[in-house]
Amino acid sequence: MSDTDLLPLPPETRLLGEGGPQVSAAAWGMWRFAGASVAQATRLVESALDAGITLFDTADIYGVDGSGWGSAESLLGEVFAADRGLRDRLVLATKGGIVMGVPYDSSPAYLATAIDASLARLQVDHVELWQIHRPDVLTHPEDLARTLEDAVRSGKVGAVGVSNFTPAQIDALRHYLDIPLVSTQPEFSALHLQPLEDGQLDSAMRDRMAVLAWSPLGGGRIAAPGTAREQEVADALDVIANAQGVSRALAAMSWIAAHPAHPIPIAGSQNADRIAELAKLRAVRWTRRQWYAVLTAAQGEPLP
Ligand code: NAP
Repeated sequence: MSDTDLLPLPPETRLLGEGGPQVSAAAWGMWRFAGASVAQATRLVESALDAGITLFDTADIYGVDGSGWGSAESLLGEVFAADRGLRDRLVLATKGGIVMGVPYDSSPAYLATAIDASLARLQVDHVELWQIHRPDVLTHPEDLARTLEDAVRSGKVGAVGVSNFTPAQIDALRHYLDIPLVSTQPEFSALHLQPLEDGQLDSAMRDRMAVLAWSPLGGGRIAAPGTAREQEVADALDVIANAQGVSRALAAMSWIAAHPAHPIPIAGSQNADRIAELAKLRAVRWTRRQWYAVLTAAQGEPLP
């Protein structure tokens, strides 16, 4: 294998879109951040930072299935209150716009209250990135653009992004926005290829938006396959994992980051040792042939 066969590594750090902050190649997510003591939660945050992860992704709804609405943000707020120095070491991203029982509201009045409520729970005066969690098709993109601009102008939000938007929804919002839309957060993994197929990764490269990949291990199914297709994807990832002496989970994370958009996989593990390993995206080198072998396993049929 010559060096020219190898796909470029993702950069160790990079700007979050145009105008966003500098962030690590991998992020850590707090969807499952619940039920831990403040001391345990602090240890998890520190292990992610010690592993080189600087981008932390949460949302106002996280914790809703466990300790209640807002509990993941509140727990992180308690971690910051106990150690003020930690907050300044990380790039904080949160989301809003999901309303239990509605289910989406991106109206100016609702989003303004949602941002204030997140900041209060997090015990911070601003977040570096604020994302619309899911598209509210009943809000005109021009109104949404004004709301997001107001949020940045207020200083409560450093930059804005979206999650689970289609490429057309992103284009419509960008059309009206006078500030950069720095990131998009779709589900993306070797088990969920939609952003690769619907043009989302292509538009992100064109528009210099960062792509944050949620559930990069398919919510754990890549580590513990339950279907024949999941097993085939796991087997394809194991070829490179075994050859390079890394876990299948790290191979799956690095497969995502090896795409030229260099998507930032958001590791969801709440295990300090796993978080430390998953941050080592640059420990894995992919050849073009190996990368396409995983894609072929994921699609379940040979490429034309
Ligand atoms: P994931 O990394 O795909 O899955 C993490 C889960 O896999 C954890 O329960 C973890 O358990 C388990 N797991 C089992 N074996 C593992 C191994 N060998 N290595 C690592 N993990 C293993 O991610 P996710 O938690 O589903 O999602 C990640 C983040 O994406 C969330 O925290 C959130 O920030 C974001 N997200 C966003 C949206 C959205 O709509 N925008 C939706 C879902 C998620 P352990 O904890 O025991 O390691």
